[in-house]
Amino acid sequence: MSRLIIRNGLVLTMDDAGTYYESGTVVVEKDRIVSVAAGCEGYEPREGDRVIDASDKIVMPGLVDLHYHTAIGKGYNDHLPLWEYLDECWYPLVRAVDPEAAYWSALASYTESIKSGCTTVNDMYRQLDSLALAAEHIGIRAVLSNDVALEEHNLDTLEDNHKAYVANHGKANGRIEVLIGIEWLPLASPELLREARALADQLGTGIHVHLNESRTEVDFCLEKFGRRPTELAYETGLLGPDTIAAHCVWLDDREISLMAETRTHISHNPNSNAKLGNGIARIPEMLAAGLNIGLGHDAVECNNSADMFEVMKYASLLQRASRIDASLMPADDVLRMATRNGAKALGHMTGQLTAGYKADIILIDTNNAMFTPMLRDNAVHLSSHLVFAANGSVVDTSIIDGEIVMQGRILTRMNEEQIVREANAAFRRIKDKMVVVKR
Ligand SMILES: [Zn+2]
Repeated sequence: MSRLIIRNGLVLTMDDAGTYYESGTVVVEKDRIVSVAAGCEGYEPREGDRVIDASDKIVMPGLVDLHYHTAIGKGYNDHLPLWEYLDECWYPLVRAVDPEAAYWSALASYTESIKSGCTTVNDMYRQLDSLALAAEHIGIRAVLSNDVALEEHNLDTLEDNHKAYVANHGKANGRIEVLIGIEWLPLASPELLREARALADQLGTGIHVHLNESRTEVDFCLEKFGRRPTELAYETGLLGPDTIAAHCVWLDDREISLMAETRTHISHNPNSNAKLGNGIARIPEMLAAGLNIGLGHDAVECNNSADMFEVMKYASLLQRASRIDASLMPADDVLRMATRNGAKALGHMTGQLTAGYKADIILIDTNNAMFTPMLRDNAVHLSSHLVFAANGSVVDTSIIDGEIVMQGRILTRMNEEQIVREANAAFRRIKDKMVVVKR
């Protein structure tokens, strides 16, 4: 069987022991990593093998973007708080999106993500057949869910999500999966949340939900349901080890303990929370409670970048600034959040370079002033550069499910210029169909 051999790299495995090889070899067969080792002896290429010389490149697991929306309307309504932004920008946009616009928007979003080192997206959006097709074509690992809300809000229903699951879950060698998505609790009812849990259990899949994102959301839930959002999610069975709760900025102590009790995973999205003026999540308290926390960029409408390197840096800096404590969120902890913690939340065998795991691997070019000075024998120093100094433009190659989807910053399966052109055309087309409904 032909193999892909990546050799001479600075191999940051992110495995349980934190193993680092100053010069190592990673061998891939089909979609799996079969070997990770120091040096290159014993891995001479055989006929049919592909070899990547990773000299001066960091070889590490791809980044997992744990809270994601395909997006098309970047730069609109940049100065609104969350609720007004949703009503005046996000909902009119996603209600206007048709299958073709969703396809090109997803491709534009996935292109930006792949080019900044992301190999998995946890994408809540609409028109999932189009998103699955886009992911299949460009080669990214995509976990998709619908924007489910009560019917009166004219978004998606559980039936839409069920259909999308039947049509797409497990496609492309399992690279595409479908979860049940709940938009957020102000657009839901306790009955809808119970039905979402029942459907997830029936299908054997997980749940993706926005929770405790803003103070207005908490106030609204207290007024409408007599409970805080996470209390209601707990009572209706929405939480669990198969649930990813995005944001969780305004969790009180009891809600943190409910997350811990149910082993719910958290996606921390610091850039989006900062830009929308939602606040800073209580990450130290959540970590102390033992929660598994991954990172997400959210959507480029509220970020405005999909670059997970920026997300990593914000995740650390915002905690340090707000707590006046430079010891918080060290670089290697943040890197784990962006790789293996996100993979764990999704139940994936990714997020680390270990034999038997899926081959989702990125190569980072260190021949760049961002990586100067370079101490090749010091993994802590490398992690520092990755989190605090670099940005996504340093990613040279991306391998997803064993296939090279970008090399030398060029997509291998699709034409980036065409994607940009078509996405721009799609936005111009749907912009005219946007209808703002004043509450
Ligand atoms: Zn979101």
